[in-house]
Amino acid sequence: MNWEANVRKVVPYTPGEQPFLRDMIKLNTNECPYPPSERVQRVLREFDASDLRLYPDPGALGLTEALAAHFGLKREQVFVGVGSDEVLALSFLAFFSGGKPVLFPDITYSFYEVWAQLYGIPYRCPALDEGFRLKKEDYLTENGGIVFPNPNAPTGLVESLETVEEIVAGNPDSVVIVDEAYADFCGISAMGLVDRYENLLVVQTFSKSRALAGLRIGFAAGSPKLIRYLNDVKFSFNSYTMNRLTIACGKACLEDEDWFLKTVGKIVSTRERMKAELKSLGFSFPDSGANFLFVRHESVPARQLFSALREAGIFVRHFDRPRIDDYLRISVGTDEEADRLTAFLNGYLKKS
Ligand SMILES: *Cc1c(COP(=O)(O)O)cnc(C)c1O
Repeated sequence: MNWEANVRKVVPYTPGEQPFLRDMIKLNTNECPYPPSERVQRVLREFDASDLRLYPDPGALGLTEALAAHFGLKREQVFVGVGSDEVLALSFLAFFSGGKPVLFPDITYSFYEVWAQLYGIPYRCPALDEGFRLKKEDYLTENGGIVFPNPNAPTGLVESLETVEEIVAGNPDSVVIVDEAYADFCGISAMGLVDRYENLLVVQTFSKSRALAGLRIGFAAGSPKLIRYLNDVKFSFNSYTMNRLTIACGKACLEDEDWFLKTVGKIVSTRERMKAELKSLGFSFPDSGANFLFVRHESVPARQLFSALREAGIFVRHFDRPRIDDYLRISVGTDEEADRLTAFLNGYLKKS
């Protein structure tokens, strides 16, 4: 009766909740507030279900090649997976097996710690400075690998490409993973560096800027050697991670640059409006380059605001973690959602 002794015990990642209420305003998981490209909708309408009896292409070649062309890379430099979460999980398994601690910031995407624990990878979390900026000296010390998001989550802060490059160049003995889930909202990306640094892996996703969180598409770009190692791990795990329909939709989405630029443009302009409005309501925040704001109010505690918003059907994210428990992460929605958010806050803050 001691089978539990043989069980791998893990503390899982907690995703934001997916409530379904009529009329709710969902600003808690950084999804795109707009529907995906019409071209994706067309693929879905015209997809021939009889193709589903066949396995998909194990290399998801249609999408891999489209991504390579889009970013001016060779096919051998691109890897696709079921959301960037899968790409990152496989990357941890492939690249962080050296025994020295892997480095990531104390305030960052909390999945990194979960994967490190799941795989038994030692890790260290250098503290961001007071303004939540990365201290690059911390990443120029001995390590078994490095991972950080840029823009960072949940702060939204963007580190310059120079800082990123210094970290990559200063660590020729480690793989450096830059998680660019939000890079499309600031226009700063390390994608252009992958040809020059064999140890750099840049990971992006279709979940935030391409409105396809429900389809699950992520990808990585790196040197052919790095991608080969990543494929070796993937093909030791599951050959057919990405299904036929998803591969076709991802390719169609990538072909619609007009939709993409327009959608990102709208989100960025709503973000800038939200910054001005929340500032005038007494909120302060790091200057976000992502599709969310990380805000703190001058007098009302985050926890109280979180509950009040929730009761009003407005879902945002609160992290009960040291240093950030007085902040709320609010996704950028449509202009109308932003208006309803500020209208509610305006009324609520007047009362409290
Ligand atoms: C959302 C997010 C991801 C995961 O996105 P997928 O939906 O799995 O592609 C990865 N990293 C960060 C920092 C994120 O915010």
